[in-house]
Amino acid sequence: MKALTLTAYKEFYFGEAAVPQLGADEVLIKVAACGICGSDVHGMDGSTGRRLPPIIMGHEAAGTVVEVGPEAGSWVVGQRVTFDSTLYCGECAFCREGQVNLCEDRRVLGVSCPDYRQHGAFAEYVAVPGRVVIPIPEGLSFEQACFVEPTAVALHAVHRAQVSPGQTGLVIGAGIIGLLTIQALKAAGCRKVYASDLSEARLQLALELGADEVFPANSTVNLPEEMLRRTGGQGVDVAMEAVGIRATVAAAIACVRKGGRVGLIGNLSPHIEFPLQSVVTREISLFGSCASAGEYPRALEEIAAGRIRVEPLTSAVRPLAEGAEWFQRLYEAKEDLIKVILQP
Ligand SMILES: [Zn+2]
Ligand SMILES: [Zn+2]
Repeated sequence: MKALTLTAYKEFYFGEAAVPQLGADEVLIKVAACGICGSDVHGMDGSTGRRLPPIIMGHEAAGTVVEVGPEAGSWVVGQRVTFDSTLYCGECAFCREGQVNLCEDRRVLGVSCPDYRQHGAFAEYVAVPGRVVIPIPEGLSFEQACFVEPTAVALHAVHRAQVSPGQTGLVIGAGIIGLLTIQALKAAGCRKVYASDLSEARLQLALELGADEVFPANSTVNLPEEMLRRTGGQGVDVAMEAVGIRATVAAAIACVRKGGRVGLIGNLSPHIEFPLQSVVTREISLFGSCASAGEYPRALEEIAAGRIRVEPLTSAVRPLAEGAEWFQRLYEAKEDLIKVILQP
């Protein structure tokens, strides 16, 4: 089969690769479309340690079932499907509680680290366990279905934020996850959702996707002051941080009201300093949110119903053969590309 393989850091080979061996509990999927994730772009230079070459990356995919292992469940050849990028074991204590993102034996598709190498979907075929496969609803394209993973990530984070209708929210960082989180907060009933980012183009997109007001992240804007002004001096109920550096985490904490909640989704910096005293004395709840746990079907429903819009996030849909070039463009980050989808 044809595949796009990361052969060395920042080097790709597009050409022949072995079709995955199908395990008894696995389904073989002919990939129709696969999105390039930020984690692939950050990983391709070796900086995250999670894309050790050689590896076929790609975990945001959709396609058609072509073969079903004897223990893979009742999947049917020809069925249009997508799948959870987290290959959970289904048996550990976390999996039994439905916290599959915390699985003790979690593998992520298209990732290679010292513990495992799991080839992904920048290829004509990919094999995944039947338990992570999800049917694509009627009327949803393969390209739309590719957004199920980042959408589920946003829904999971908003679920963890425990927002109630009528509350106010702030999203810091309007990349793909931030832009989906804005929409998920709105879908959860937030009365006002504010957003902040460095990029003017992304803020425009945030407005288009339902943000009520946006703020450029620059020295002329004091975000906590703006939030206080709009909330009667209190601060927003919930702030979602989708960057992961010291300044933005500190801003998120400063923008929430007493007793408010700060969701940490971004983690660009593995370690940061943060305003401990402000968190303690104002009883702020900080929570991490990683991947998703059961939000995939709802993510597909939200996209199908148009409550979460993904077309405006699609920057390009191109053949897999052009993959190396698009990875390079995303890596250079000179353009405002959001999601690039590759078709094998
Ligand atoms: Zn992803
Ligand atoms: Zn497990």
